[in-house]
Amino acid sequence: MSIPMVDLKGQMATLMEEVEPEIREVLETGQFIMGPRGKAFEEEAAGFLGVQRAVGVASGTDALHLALLAAGVGPGDEVITTPFTFAATAEAILYVGARPVFADVDRESYNLDPEAVAAAVTPRTRALLPVHLFGQPVDMEALGAVAEEHGLTIVEDCAQSFGAARGGRTTGAWGVAGAFSFFPSKNLGGAGDGGLITTNDEAVADRLLRLRNHGSSRPYYHDELGFNSRLDELQAVVLRAKLKRIRAYNEGRRRVAMAYRRHLADAPVTLPAEVEEGAHVYHQFVLQAANRDEIKAALQAADIASAVYYAVPLHRQPAFAEAAGGASCPVAEELAERVLALPMFPELAKEDVERIAAVVAETARP
Ligand SMILES: *Cc1c(COP(=O)(O)O)cnc(C)c1O
Repeated sequence: MSIPMVDLKGQMATLMEEVEPEIREVLETGQFIMGPRGKAFEEEAAGFLGVQRAVGVASGTDALHLALLAAGVGPGDEVITTPFTFAATAEAILYVGARPVFADVDRESYNLDPEAVAAAVTPRTRALLPVHLFGQPVDMEALGAVAEEHGLTIVEDCAQSFGAARGGRTTGAWGVAGAFSFFPSKNLGGAGDGGLITTNDEAVADRLLRLRNHGSSRPYYHDELGFNSRLDELQAVVLRAKLKRIRAYNEGRRRVAMAYRRHLADAPVTLPAEVEEGAHVYHQFVLQAANRDEIKAALQAADIASAVYYAVPLHRQPAFAEAAGGASCPVAEELAERVLALPMFPELAKEDVERIAAVVAETARP
């Protein structure tokens, strides 16, 4: 039996009875965007995450883009971020006319290294854009101290960290805004594209409501240049059903991660660090190994999926090389050669975890 990275079909099957009548109702009423379900989802998500406001948008990429605009980041500004992330993080910075400045990451948490961030600050630095990578919260106390010292705004990339918390405070509740993605394979994923921006600043939230809707706060009056970026009602149906279960889903991921840890404790691999117990939601379980490519091939031969996040750090990508201006991030570059993500989803069976771990343990070399 083959083992996939994620099992979206299996999870959806368990929700079918609940979402089917709701989807039918949306289709029958004909209210497809800006309806009651999207609004209800925003309120429920804000409540769950412990923030004042949440604004649904069309994708995680849009969430980052609009959050940066609402935070006042624009042309001439520098935004310090990580090169060890998905492209959208840096794309959003370029979309608002600012320049991404890549600071190196921490070898153990895979997240931005606050010391590297402090060293990258210049008079043009306007904001920090940390990514809670693979579901592990960034050291927000240390990063917050850097931001405070230099008067910088923080926008969080929470695309992989729905429900992750540090000292009880969820990701998305630290900066001026947090950007979430509901891309189907994310730990809270829709049945298509979607995103959300969280904030505790009412003025930022109200600006976001305009930005996502053509800069308009009442029909056909446009206060500023806006965008078309809304979370639709069909997505809201699926997301509300999954939001009810997100605690259990994240628990399931942690259970799988603990099982991997047990089975791989003696293998010559570096297991993902857990900076704070219970904080990590394991959007991905990413280990490091000297012979990563061999392990990947052995897994493939055993019909087991695995993936490399991320094979090329952003400062080495043609799309960002000019903006990066020859930035040096040796830790990110080394990680790109060593990391391997194993199958991870809440429903992954114990026996499958055992089977996957056995192949890894057999193949890994120091
Ligand atoms: C998925 C992802 C995004 C983009 O989200 P989309 O919904 O696909 O636009 C941004 N940042 C990170 C770290 C991501 O993993």
